[in-house]
Amino acid sequence: MFIYIAGSGAMGCRFGYQLFKAGNKVVLLDKWEDHIKAIKEKGLTIVGDKEDNVKIPIMHPEEAKEPADLIILFTKAMQLPAMLQDIEQVIGENTKVLCLLNGLGHEDVIKQYIPEKNILMGVTVWTAGLQGPGVAILKATGSVNLQSIDPAGEAEAEKIVEVLNEAGLNVTYDKDVVPSIWRKACVNGTMNSTCALEDCTIGEFFASEDALKVVHTIIHEFVEVGRATGVKLDEEAITEYIMHTAEVAAEHYPSMHQDLVQNHRQTEIDYINGAVARKGDELGVPTPYCHMITELIHAKEHVLGIR
Ligand code: NAD
Repeated sequence: MFIYIAGSGAMGCRFGYQLFKAGNKVVLLDKWEDHIKAIKEKGLTIVGDKEDNVKIPIMHPEEAKEPADLIILFTKAMQLPAMLQDIEQVIGENTKVLCLLNGLGHEDVIKQYIPEKNILMGVTVWTAGLQGPGVAILKATGSVNLQSIDPAGEAEAEKIVEVLNEAGLNVTYDKDVVPSIWRKACVNGTMNSTCALEDCTIGEFFASEDALKVVHTIIHEFVEVGRATGVKLDEEAITEYIMHTAEVAAEHYPSMHQDLVQNHRQTEIDYINGAVARKGDELGVPTPYCHMITELIHAKEHVLGIR
């Protein structure tokens, strides 16, 4: 299968690498000059659970010309509209587009560029990091759940699932993926933004009663807003899932901490707590904690001069 990875940072490199090793024709698309130069000159280097180096093509999105069978979107949320504009020329009539970004509301953006029958929305618990330009850190295992947003696209989506599974990506076709997308957003909304603000690990944050009150209130706001939009969400089950995730990932600094505190990069807050705050306002559901957390992250981005 001919596949573009649109946004080839940490996660794009993971998916691109695995699909390339499985024998697919894969082209990475990215805009980070140092990363492009490193991969063109030295190949994509893999460290972590295993070490490898592959000569995988990489180019700027506008340079891509040949329409693809599949495009996997892996930009940061705020980079998504520009990426979709830059790859318009390679979106064929039957090109499937899979979105695995964290956060909420991406399908509304993607629908402006791609017919619904070709859009696959999903969620992944695979992880990845970058050691620097051209070097991806791949550890542990994960899985993907995805769904065609148009039921007419289900049979074609099953074929994509097969290709991804041949690359060991552990993918399930999910007949109702939206609750899982909301649950992952809620994990991010309770851990990423809070640990970035508090400058601590997940375990350090979840250790106090005060923090747990914040966590429970954020979960409640996500669940109320999600339900108001028609998504079936079970507050008790989500709380259990988040507490378990916090235990397993206690030693970790979440990605928003890495982006904001460690690397001074803009965060995806507007697509996580910010998306819930906006939707809540639209639907008349109060979300004071999501509002405040979003505003505090924005304020920190201003302090750092990255907003
Ligand atoms: P990333 O920051 O590694 O890459 C996203 C884009 O930013 C890429 O185009 C990349 O080249 C660019 N970039 C990265 N570092 C840069 C730098 N220092 N200077 C300039 N450009 C840079 O993002 P990611 O972790 O691959 O995440 C992509 C999406 O997947 C996000 O929505 C994220 O929330 C989600 N996600 C990430 C993980 C994870 O473990 N990393 C897990 C699940 C979902």
